[in-house]
Amino acid sequence: MSYYEVSMQLKDILDLVQGYNQKSDTQLIELAYEFAAQAHAGQKRRNGEDYIQHCLGTAYHLAKIKMDDATIIAGLLHDIPDETSIGVSEIAKNFGDEVASLVEGVCKLGKLKYRGMERYAENLRKMFVSIASDIRIVIIKFADRMHNLETLDALPAPKQERIAHEVIEIYAPIADRLGMGYMKGELEDRAFKYVYPDAYEQIQDIMNQLEAKREYLLGISTKTQTLISEQLAIHPGIESRVKHLFSIYRKLSKEQTLSLEGVYDIVAMRIVVENVSDCYAVLGVIHQYWKPLPGRFKDYIAQPKPNNYQSLHTTVFCDDGEIVEFQIRTQGMDYQAKFGIAAHWNYDESNKTSQKITKNLDWLQEILKMQTAENSEEYLQSLKLDIFQNRIFVFTPQGDVINLPEESTPVDFAYHIHSEIGRKCSGARVNDILSSLDTKLNSGDVVDIIIEKNRKKPSSDWLGFVKTHMAKVRIKAQIREHVS
Ligand code: MN
Repeated sequence: MSYYEVSMQLKDILDLVQGYNQKSDTQLIELAYEFAAQAHAGQKRRNGEDYIQHCLGTAYHLAKIKMDDATIIAGLLHDIPDETSIGVSEIAKNFGDEVASLVEGVCKLGKLKYRGMERYAENLRKMFVSIASDIRIVIIKFADRMHNLETLDALPAPKQERIAHEVIEIYAPIADRLGMGYMKGELEDRAFKYVYPDAYEQIQDIMNQLEAKREYLLGISTKTQTLISEQLAIHPGIESRVKHLFSIYRKLSKEQTLSLEGVYDIVAMRIVVENVSDCYAVLGVIHQYWKPLPGRFKDYIAQPKPNNYQSLHTTVFCDDGEIVEFQIRTQGMDYQAKFGIAAHWNYDESNKTSQKITKNLDWLQEILKMQTAENSEEYLQSLKLDIFQNRIFVFTPQGDVINLPEESTPVDFAYHIHSEIGRKCSGARVNDILSSLDTKLNSGDVVDIIIEKNRKKPSSDWLGFVKTHMAKVRIKAQIREHVS
């Protein structure tokens, strides 16, 4: 790699940064680049490139999601302590404590290895602790992995598989949980072919079949544009885009088919408008012209997803009976959907922004409380259920929103409110109808717990159907209290 090409890439990063952060100290970023280039001088990556290419690649992915200077500089420097003789204290001296602590955090995460259940649980625990200390650490790690995946072909097969697995099992779900849809999709698609090579090829085939529909979809897009401008006199941007490969694969394998038939939302028409009322107005225009598929309309504007994703989704029968999904949202929602927590960075107070973000992540605070779980298999189970699974929103009779994993029951709800309400729970009204305690709740349900005042301990049967880790742990503890 010639010096010319290297410096071109640094320029690419600086151009990006200047585009979104007017207060950026580009000179300091340049210094960090020179510092890293010198520290890694003579080192080569497996693919023969100079090591600095990896540092630049990492920083580039960080600039693409509009991160602050400290994060980009830490991205450039992230491998120095582990790969060279220069330590963290040297970095602190040159670039300050904030950058040094980010680099140190990334190095700690780097020592995690995906190997077996035991290690996996341990890794996740460490990961969440580091997210809590500074969310930017895990974001740098995402960018680091992204570049690793781009150059994975140069590695021996077992290592390829390990890295790709780690991305799919650990990094992508966390990116998703942080609302970073773009990062999640890109990580998964890059890891996909190494983890499921056969499926990857099949999906590629399906994508090729989709090519044939391109013209048809273009027609729908134009038609939609015309309808909206005629009826509402607005001219929103419409983008028809194929979804991420891995998410299509996940969808298809869930429906146990690997064919295009019956999969409605491989292509989504995304309409970005100026304000919320335009979202609903556009939805009206679409539903007036094309018939919606029953049960497929979702209002994530009124009820955002737990990761703050907002949008209207609807699937309609278009001309010739073809089925197409529409996503309607504002510019701000579109930005949130792509960048998630990285969307609201305050470049003046980056450190504080990071702290504020983690403090407000309920699910993260919940996981940190789970640290004590001794059994790693159990820990993983509960993480998968509580954190990575889809969530539902249910309501108390007073109208408070309670956020639970899918398939939660009134008992989960009761324990979520208070462990004493859990202990004394004897029945439930779901939407005013008397329901059994193992009823699976749905988003929007109003749940009223019936309490038996003198009840001393919960039923051990409940352990057979509760979904949340919290309920399980508390039921067991309360039963134990009464055994002795
Ligand atoms: Mn690295």
